[in-house]
Amino acid sequence: MDMTFQPLLKEKPANKPLIIAGPCSAETEEQVLNTARALSNKGVDLFRSGIWKPRTRPGAFEGVGTEGLGWLRRVKQETGMKVTTEVANTQHVFEALKHQIDVLWLGARTTVNPFSVQEVADALKGVDIPVLIKNPINPDFKLWVGAIERIYKAGITRIGVIHRGFSYHGDTKYRNVPRWQIAIDLKREFPDLPIICDNSHICGRRDILQSVAQKALDLNFDGYMTEVHPDPDNAWSDAAQQITPSQFLEIKERLIFRQLTTDNMEFLENLEHLRHEIDELDEEMLNLLSNRMKLAERIGEYKQRNNIAILQTSRWNEILERAINKGRLKGLSEEFTTVYLKAVHQESINHQEKVMNQAKTEA
Ligand code: PEP
Ligand code: MN
Repeated sequence: MDMTFQPLLKEKPANKPLIIAGPCSAETEEQVLNTARALSNKGVDLFRSGIWKPRTRPGAFEGVGTEGLGWLRRVKQETGMKVTTEVANTQHVFEALKHQIDVLWLGARTTVNPFSVQEVADALKGVDIPVLIKNPINPDFKLWVGAIERIYKAGITRIGVIHRGFSYHGDTKYRNVPRWQIAIDLKREFPDLPIICDNSHICGRRDILQSVAQKALDLNFDGYMTEVHPDPDNAWSDAAQQITPSQFLEIKERLIFRQLTTDNMEFLENLEHLRHEIDELDEEMLNLLSNRMKLAERIGEYKQRNNIAILQTSRWNEILERAINKGRLKGLSEEFTTVYLKAVHQESINHQEKVMNQAKTEA
């Protein structure tokens, strides 16, 4: 589907990062206003706060509801900051519009469900308001694109996306693993769609917020969104990842927003040269992987003839452990080596299975 996007905020120059900050949830009027006062006139473009909170399990704090919209209106009146909140159904949209919320966002648990996205899209027909769409909780690129298309078809052209990471079962330093490649793919497919990094929900903790935001800016993201609370440890939701306004401003000072283009020809040529080398290495790696799969197929034939199971756990553990150690010596993180090898291993199994099944049907 062909889509042409308009700038998200009319007054915002494209060469500056879009900065969104504010508490995970609105808890009390005082908490919302204190946070907003500490962030006003500090280069924050949008003040965020959840009013209706989608929680994984019932019984947790589910948001203050419509009352909180009045608090956000006070933030606008007092500080002049624009405000944004999450909407997940028709009633949320109507209430948010009635209270002059400037920008709406769709949460990860909404994007994942086309029924909900369509409901929000239908409620937005004929309305001119910017909408930010978070990635779905699962790493499904098409589901994310589908949500963008549904909102666009409702007539919304001021759209942005928020990369907040993906659920992952296993050990990781993140709350939601970033899988940067998915965001990069989206950027490549829709170059004029602004992409914002939600470092809070990717990290789930405070100590890596800065490095994740910097990584996003280095990948040409258009901005970032961070959860900020006056008393993070006692926040009613997402306490572990929220930071104080002054911690937020310190990080903001340290972040470097690099310019995308330059007129420096020498720089561009060197960059081109390095990119060419990368392309060549990528091709070489594909050739090597293809050769690896051919070997796996030969092993498959061999196992089939000798009636041996495909997966031999001890051998797999040995490969994994050896590779992690070797990778570490070469500057590759354990996480990367593990994810990479698991993918290669799965592909090998698929190739072996194909060969073994063929042999079975021929027999
Ligand atoms: C949030 O931004 O507070 C939120 C609920 O995020 P997500 O939809 O990314 O989980
Ligand atoms: Mn949150």
